[in-house]
Amino acid sequence: MSQHQDLIDRDRKVTFHASTHLRDFAHGDAPGRVISGGQGINIVDKDGREFIDGFAGLYCVNIGYGRKEIAEAIYNQAMEISYYHTYVGHSNEPQIALSERILKIAGMGMSKVYYGMSGSDANETQLKIVRYYNNVLGRPQKKKVISRMRGYHGSGIASGSLTGLKAFHDHFDLPIETIRHTEAPHYYLRAAEQHDMTEREFSAFCAQKLEAMILEEGPDTVAAFIGEPVLGTGGIVPPPEGYWEQIQAVLNKYDVLLIADEVVCGFGRTGADFGSHFYGIKPDLITIAKGLTSAYQPLSGVIVGDKVWSVLEQGTGEYGPIGHGWTYSGHALGCAAAIANLDIIEREGLVANAAETGAYFQQQLKATFGDHPLLGDVRGVGLMAALEFSPDAVGRAHFDPALKVGPRVAAAALEENLIARAMPQGDILGFAPPLTINRSEVDEMLGRAKRAVDKVT
Ligand code: PLP
Repeated sequence: MSQHQDLIDRDRKVTFHASTHLRDFAHGDAPGRVISGGQGINIVDKDGREFIDGFAGLYCVNIGYGRKEIAEAIYNQAMEISYYHTYVGHSNEPQIALSERILKIAGMGMSKVYYGMSGSDANETQLKIVRYYNNVLGRPQKKKVISRMRGYHGSGIASGSLTGLKAFHDHFDLPIETIRHTEAPHYYLRAAEQHDMTEREFSAFCAQKLEAMILEEGPDTVAAFIGEPVLGTGGIVPPPEGYWEQIQAVLNKYDVLLIADEVVCGFGRTGADFGSHFYGIKPDLITIAKGLTSAYQPLSGVIVGDKVWSVLEQGTGEYGPIGHGWTYSGHALGCAAAIANLDIIEREGLVANAAETGAYFQQQLKATFGDHPLLGDVRGVGLMAALEFSPDAVGRAHFDPALKVGPRVAAAALEENLIARAMPQGDILGFAPPLTINRSEVDEMLGRAKRAVDKVT
């Protein structure tokens, strides 16, 4: 038996894997793979087989694999001090430097950064902030948070409730009370049902739906709205024209805070530092993770804007120290990795590369798949994109889910040594390669993708 197979067999016996068919995996009926190396946009498994990672892990390894510079930064910090808690005013140098750096990149009136370990826990923090904020302001009934169908905000009890994907709710008794889901800004799917609206009309339709929900719930009960600048896990869907502008007008009208979940978009994915910059969003709170360290360490953050921060300060003046904190908040190794990661992004111009090579990628994706008979929609922005499969692009029909078109294309891509992600809802294949990708790598990636799609046709 190969060493790889032996490892997989051992894994089946002992590991509870994320997003996996537990029974099939445990009993050997679903494949496993042990990843043992990576360089640039490629990863290698234990058999030495190399794949283009067209999804940068889970759209997080933005600087690509194999960066010794990050390993050295982590090592150097560990030789100083790996960890001391950050409660009651304790800090470490990387945390201070990182916060300064993040606030400078973000701009937009942001004033403080709170750290966690994952996007999910950062969104738990967001929900606590929103509650605390309204309690301090003497509005204890203003607690509901509106998210969107197809939004993805994590997997916890509260963050999983914000997520608007059925598979993350079913059998877990989610969502919790106080979370609502409004229309997904998925123009391709919904515009046809809505009598072929223009993008702008569809944005207005989404804003009206949001306003109707706020009025129905009662504006004095709605605290916040959370959204990803570009819907990610829900299908990689850039917003229709004018969407954020119209949504923000509604939120301002009813004094509802805006949380921009930048876990995927943050640090360059759209071709701008933040998706909020790209779309002109003016958030009160921002969630970051993934690209913050390019996943070389688990680190997330909540960026708090001036308006909310002054109320939090006022609250602790009244109630005493804030009752919120993780053991690993501001972990020195995570912060050191993040600084080294941001150095690489800046030095190598990776945000500009996401814009420039991203434009080439979007253009080639459309040229390769625009007229393909299996495709309904080809969309994206910067270095994130999706192919949405349909038996009838004009009517935007869906394939029978039993045909598993999306997963079959992803499996065919794997045979071509390409990792692209079958998104969890609908027949959608997602791409989000490392931001280091160049044009010839884009060509190679799309060549493999084309062969995979053709195989399934
Ligand atoms: N928010 C967004 C937009 C995400 O895409 C994700 C993960 O994919 C999360 C939050 C949750 O992050 P994590 O998986 O690190 O908990």
